[in-house]
Amino acid sequence: MRAPSGSNTKDNGPSASSHATDVLIVGAGPGGCTAALQLARHGVRTMLIEKAVFPRDKVCGDALSGKVMRVLGRIDPDLVARVNAHAHRMPSWGVTFVAPGGKALRVPFSRHTGEGEAPGAILPRLDFDAILFDAVKRTNAVQVLEATSAKQYTRTPDGWTVALDGGRSVRCRLVLAADGAHSQFARHVAGSAMDPRHQAAGVRAYYEGITDLDPHGFIELHFLKELLPGYLWIFPLPGGRANVGLGLRSDHVRSRELDLKTELQRLVSSHPTLKYRFANAQIEGPVQGMGLPLASKRHPLSGEGYLLIGDAGHLIDPFTGEGISHAMISGVHAADVAHEALREGRTDAAFLKAYDRRVWRRLGQELAISTRLQDLAHQAWLFDLVVKRANRNPALADTISSMFTDLDLRARLKKPGFYMDLVLGRRLSQ
Ligand SMILES: Cc1cc2nc3c(=O)[nH]c(=O)nc-3n(C[C@H](O)[C@H](O)[C@H](O)COP(=O)(O)OP(=O)(O)OC[C@H]3O[C@@H](n4cnc5c(N)ncnc54)[C@H](O)[C@@H]3O)c2cc1C
Repeated sequence: MRAPSGSNTKDNGPSASSHATDVLIVGAGPGGCTAALQLARHGVRTMLIEKAVFPRDKVCGDALSGKVMRVLGRIDPDLVARVNAHAHRMPSWGVTFVAPGGKALRVPFSRHTGEGEAPGAILPRLDFDAILFDAVKRTNAVQVLEATSAKQYTRTPDGWTVALDGGRSVRCRLVLAADGAHSQFARHVAGSAMDPRHQAAGVRAYYEGITDLDPHGFIELHFLKELLPGYLWIFPLPGGRANVGLGLRSDHVRSRELDLKTELQRLVSSHPTLKYRFANAQIEGPVQGMGLPLASKRHPLSGEGYLLIGDAGHLIDPFTGEGISHAMISGVHAADVAHEALREGRTDAAFLKAYDRRVWRRLGQELAISTRLQDLAHQAWLFDLVVKRANRNPALADTISSMFTDLDLRARLKKPGFYMDLVLGRRLSQ
């Protein structure tokens, strides 16, 4: 399990027709890169293949939560510094919810907005993913094949033979599939089916010239009546730019026969709460879309000789759409379990189940709460009520703010009593 000598190759030549490694990671998004960095720390012989040439774009809202920054800090504090120093990064100190009735609620992530380093950030994925991939290349401990696609996976007595494009192949003992929302591995090898009730469609575009963007980088979530249980977002970027998009569960997109790309442009130019802010805004490039596999249904994350990371494992938060941190958290656990599996000579499905257990232990509770919130998000009146009451009641506003960092508080959202207190205007018991 040592690092290969002279590795970190960007090696697509005809002589490189067959490779061997212990762990093959497919996909260099946040999940794959985090797994690669963690495997490098463990000294496991690892190869990372990526079909795109970086820097590459990824359709996303570009919002990096506090969880992303914490995982980065644990893997390599230098990465936090590189993200924070990036010229395209907007520090984010909170979130503004706009209820269906039009009332807004500003919820800071911290009691000390503007002091020290911001808890969150918005940084285009073109830049963020390049920082991570660059860090993997710089470790010199992971063999990297860029512009290389995994085409076919064949099980062997020792592990896998993976056919790559250009007639090349890799033999490995474990596959870590981090190949994203449209993962070939998840669909064709692991057999994870797409279910429109547990999948969302999202579209986004970059705009410049929107008025009234928050100076402290508060992200905006607009719960418009016509989009529930989905929402429209405006995530500010430096220089008066913003990432603007919307997301909605795929079964609703189908039943309402919506074209989300058209819907985004229609809403920003005609919705009463948005149109004045977009009056002089310019769209930069096309509106682009992509699927979000939601964690409202648990899929197995492992099997004989493989682990699924991030979107390939359907780990996106069903309420907020957050998936970058979950890809990174699952990447760390996948690397740890892969390391232990190789050390014990146990790459069988029973041993690898430890990975599922660790991921659900870490993320299961908050994903269950978000699943509940997604159910409630159909109720326009409830949003209006929460926002109205919180605007009048600083204690409730503070409770909501703390929910971003305090899971016990968030768990109260699962209890019917919380809503009864709210509806009846009772004091929110702790
Ligand atoms: C519209 C939209 C908005 C979103 N907004 C946010 C947000 O603001 N914040 C947030 O946290 N999350 C957001 N998400 C979710 C987030 O984008 C994903 O959860 C995250 O990118 C998952 O990372 P990943 O590493 O699993 O996959 P990806 O980032 O998709 O990376 C997968 C990689 O695998 C490569 N690949 C695919 N197939 C192959 C193959 N056969 N061979 C080799 N390489 C391959 C791809 O080129 C890609 O680089 C959003 C998603 C969408 C669609």
